[in-house]
Amino acid sequence: GGAGTASTTRQVKLEKESELRIEVANDTPLRLRLLNGTAEIFGTELPPQIWLTFPPHFKFAVFTWYGATIEMDGSTETDYTADETPMVSYVNVHAVLDGRRNQAKASPESSQGPRVIVVGPTDSGKSTLSRMLLSWAAKQGWKPTFVDLDIGQGSITAPGCIAATPIELPIDPVEGISLEMPLVYFYGHTTPSQNVDLYKALVKELAQILERQFTGNAESRASGMVINTMGWIEGVGYELLLHAIDTFNANVVLVLGQEKLFSMLRDVLKSKPNVDVLKLQKSGGVVSRSSKFRQKSRSYRIREYFYGIANDLSPHSNIANFNDLFVYRIGGGPQAPRSALPIGADPVANPLRVAPVNFDRDLLHVVLAVSYAQEPDQIVSSNIAGFIYVTDIDLQRRKITYLSPTAGELPSKYLVMGTLTWLET
Ligand code: ATP
Repeated sequence: GGAGTASTTRQVKLEKESELRIEVANDTPLRLRLLNGTAEIFGTELPPQIWLTFPPHFKFAVFTWYGATIEMDGSTETDYTADETPMVSYVNVHAVLDGRRNQAKASPESSQGPRVIVVGPTDSGKSTLSRMLLSWAAKQGWKPTFVDLDIGQGSITAPGCIAATPIELPIDPVEGISLEMPLVYFYGHTTPSQNVDLYKALVKELAQILERQFTGNAESRASGMVINTMGWIEGVGYELLLHAIDTFNANVVLVLGQEKLFSMLRDVLKSKPNVDVLKLQKSGGVVSRSSKFRQKSRSYRIREYFYGIANDLSPHSNIANFNDLFVYRIGGGPQAPRSALPIGADPVANPLRVAPVNFDRDLLHVVLAVSYAQEPDQIVSSNIAGFIYVTDIDLQRRKITYLSPTAGELPSKYLVMGTLTWLET
């Protein structure tokens, strides 16, 4: 192996239980195929012989349990083979979860399968482990629910959201999670500190809806959940982890790559005998990402929402009158005017207050969520249909121009604004 920018077709032979770690070049895609043997990318088996194309910057590993030969065509930033991986410990966790799913399914009243939550610092491989556990389960015919609470680098939809979706097939190594009908709540910011109460309120909403769905669906109930979390584990971040464990009734906590977090969680969860806290090794292959890279990949995720991963979608430009749409913001403003408060009291900001936003130039380049709310006071508790992107505000003619994945009328006239913006490039 070794770092390289070679751009010829070449073959790599992988011994059993080893992986080929790849960072695709910055400007060109990489083609790769499985020549012989068996191999998987983050839990999803590669089809034999078929070329797969990975976009620039893509970071991934091709792992083999029994040995494989891989062929690559194109240049990479780095590619090397590693024979030390935590994969055996990960698949052992999968085996235990699988046993619990079978138990849940076999029990007379069809009980709840495992609810796994994956926690750890940034760049410890949380999303990757979540993905492997989901794909391995799906391969076995389960339909686990993926819950992504990571508003910064989520893998279900655009940044600034928490979301859930059933995983019915192993996750596509290039396309990622298929976006059939995700359940999405819009937080609107990429850091939870912006409005911690709103974040908690949305986590609660999402958990309640899933709980309701499980009641009527024994199959997904037995399959359980895999919950991915944010890399923020200090202070309020830690408090939010506990809140998530509690709210989703998680019964398996997987702690990646941090001894301190593991021991803190083990101690605090000791009082709950049905919750298992497990420490897992971080993979040496996980790539650290700078905040600039994170910012870029957020912007890329928004682009992907409108244009698709390979520019295969064509969004529509639509025009609407200011009078036909209503934009709201959550939190911020004071709860009550000073005049309505006792003398000397300061107006307290209500984090869940829904306030109308005026149409002005501040809306330009903003990503707005389209709420399913029927009334403004339902905005906090409603999930969203998708997003629009504001490309022009004409104050004279009182018209807004926006990009939308589909043509025609929006599913609702209620839009939600956060601090999420995007500069189309
Ligand atoms: P965050 O806290 O930002 O959400 P995370 O802990 O979820 O990060 P991942 O997203 O799972 O971390 O991993 C970071 C990056 O490393 C991803 O681009 C992922 O594809 C890559 N990666 C993970 N494991 C490997 C591996 N074994 N070989 C190569 N790349 C890997």
